[in-house]
Amino acid sequence: MILNHVRPLGGAPADVHVAESRITGFTPSTAPGPAPLLLPGLVEGHCHLDKTLWGRPWWENNVGPLLTDRIENEKRTRRAIGMEAAREGRALAEAHLAAGTTRLRSHVDVDEESRLTHVEALLGLREAMRDVLDIQLVAFPQSGILRTPGVEEWLDEALRLGCDAVGGLDPSLIDRDPVRHLDIVFRLAERHGKPVDIHLHEAGELGAFSMELIAERTRALGMAGRVVISHGFALGDVAAARADALLGKLAEAGVALCTSAPPSRAVPPLRRARELGVTLFAGNDNIRDTWSPYNAPDMLARAAMVGLKYELRRDAELEWALDAVTTLAARGCGFADYGLGVGARADLVVVEAASLAEAVVQRKAPALVVSGGRVVARNGVLEG
Ligand SMILES: [Zn+2]
Repeated sequence: MILNHVRPLGGAPADVHVAESRITGFTPSTAPGPAPLLLPGLVEGHCHLDKTLWGRPWWENNVGPLLTDRIENEKRTRRAIGMEAAREGRALAEAHLAAGTTRLRSHVDVDEESRLTHVEALLGLREAMRDVLDIQLVAFPQSGILRTPGVEEWLDEALRLGCDAVGGLDPSLIDRDPVRHLDIVFRLAERHGKPVDIHLHEAGELGAFSMELIAERTRALGMAGRVVISHGFALGDVAAARADALLGKLAEAGVALCTSAPPSRAVPPLRRARELGVTLFAGNDNIRDTWSPYNAPDMLARAAMVGLKYELRRDAELEWALDAVTTLAARGCGFADYGLGVGARADLVVVEAASLAEAVVQRKAPALVVSGGRVVARNGVLEG
């Protein structure tokens, strides 16, 4: 397969050569006329395929104001309307693929309600879509670990069954014992040789303390490059000097950050993270589910949200937003063979845009999506 006359990352026009699902080379293109942009496959760094209502009729949200209201509301709704993680998860994953996402990290609930049923459903989905979408699954203790007997064992079993990473959740706020919670998470990671991705919504100094505990454990186990803190709102709450010190600890330990760039919360500082060498990438988090009616399976739209949240204006800055849903997300999640180099998996996204910055802001579906060397979508529509 040859993809003719495209501009890789906005560079000079080239023809891209692909064989057996890999990029095998580039040759200069002398064809007349403007060439569209070529991006690597987009990366969804954080979503919840098992929670979404994607593809279902509109669901009226009447949830109460507390975190516990949302947790209970989700459980009640799942039973009431017969949600199925495999069906809705597949609808969302396919919509992501049509919009150019070829790598995706999903957290998957492991709690007293779901036990291992969501894990089994999404392991099946991961296998079914293996040729066109590279899915990572994080075993996620949505209701904490210590509060419910059995969760630690179910997490252990989820990793044995094939989950790619172990999750955690607000170790002080939910389990009220950060040391024990994090020791369990990192012990499971060590036992199975798998990475860690922890939801950390804790604000201010409480969240900062949790970050320090996570950095200590990452260093002690030599897990640099294999640990992610998702959200990390505390870094947006504390004073700039304190945030810098925390970012320094995360950089030294090799802990990455993932943000959804939510309009309603303080977020880790993007510019300082880049300057201090911390990988900060992006993900949608909840997409059209009982937690949030917002968001869409569209990583260029998420990049635009990153741009808005961080007040990125200049073209060079908007390229940082694109980095957050491409190279940095692949690095943070540990997706191998990524990018537009020779030998990389041929995940190619062709966008009709003059520049990388325009690709981020224009809100237009990719003209063409190639995944693993196969054409999978055109103009936002999956190929039969
Ligand atoms: Zn999440």
